[in-house]
Amino acid sequence: MRTRFRGITVRETLLLRRADAGSDAPWGEFCPFVEYDDEEAVPWLRCALESAGVIGADWATPVRHEIPVNATVPAVGPADAHRVVAASGAGTAKVKVAEPGADPAASLAADLARVEAVRDALGPGGRVRVDANGGWDVEAAVAAVTTLDRAAGGLEYVEQPCATVDELAAVRRRVDVPIAADESIRRAEDPMLVVAAEAADVAVVKVAPLGGVAASLRIAEAIGLPCVVSSAVESSVGLAAGLALAGALPALPHACGLATTSLLAADTVAAPYVPDGGSLPVPTAPPRPDPTTLAPSLASPDRASWWLDRLNRVLHRVDDEVR
Ligand SMILES: [Mg+2]
Repeated sequence: MRTRFRGITVRETLLLRRADAGSDAPWGEFCPFVEYDDEEAVPWLRCALESAGVIGADWATPVRHEIPVNATVPAVGPADAHRVVAASGAGTAKVKVAEPGADPAASLAADLARVEAVRDALGPGGRVRVDANGGWDVEAAVAAVTTLDRAAGGLEYVEQPCATVDELAAVRRRVDVPIAADESIRRAEDPMLVVAAEAADVAVVKVAPLGGVAASLRIAEAIGLPCVVSSAVESSVGLAAGLALAGALPALPHACGLATTSLLAADTVAAPYVPDGGSLPVPTAPPRPDPTTLAPSLASPDRASWWLDRLNRVLHRVDDEVR
């Protein structure tokens, strides 16, 4: 990683393909975070095996060929926030707010300055969304969302203002800004809880934890909310599945959180997915890893055997699906 993100500085990942299908076989990326147990890793493997053509069908036919993506503004000062957005070329910016550990009043003042700077950089036609990563309680969320909405001249939505589904529902009843659920949607059954509680207007969906493109499309249809596809900070091989999902969703009213390869200090392919004019292309197949690009990032023998053991254990759990 270029900078620490969700507590990690190294993103570990395993790339796989069928050994018996020739050198043109497509690749998949299996990259559940290292602290996840085998059960939690199952959908991540399904996604990788779908991409590699080992289970399921080919990715759904895209209905669009370009995916608008948002710029991401970390909890930086207003001058840096302005610079990040202006340099991105994106029409939508996601602004991190409610930094953990900060004094609440100082934190809101900093959030306000950051959001104002982002609006200034985007101009009146841009969209500003904020992401609190569950950092507020209900009262703090209602106050902050109201203040930030005014500062932004209208927020597109607020992502995960509070930690729990019930809190999201409580905030949603009290503010006019749409609510997006992100951390509340980690597993296939979670989005239905969010819908039942009327806790969100928008669902953030991630293709790997939901089990691949086909599974994510089924879940998106079942929940019936507008979806935003975000990455799990995969390399470009895994990111391709997220782009395929975004390309196949019947409706895509919001920019997606897929412009994340810039968080990585190295990638797995020679031409990583880097947005051009605020959008990324929809691939029809995953890109091929490039040995030269990969060489400096290869795992130590210890880590490689840890990943192979993990792969084999999780593979056992999806064995009956392997075609
Ligand atoms: Mg989020």
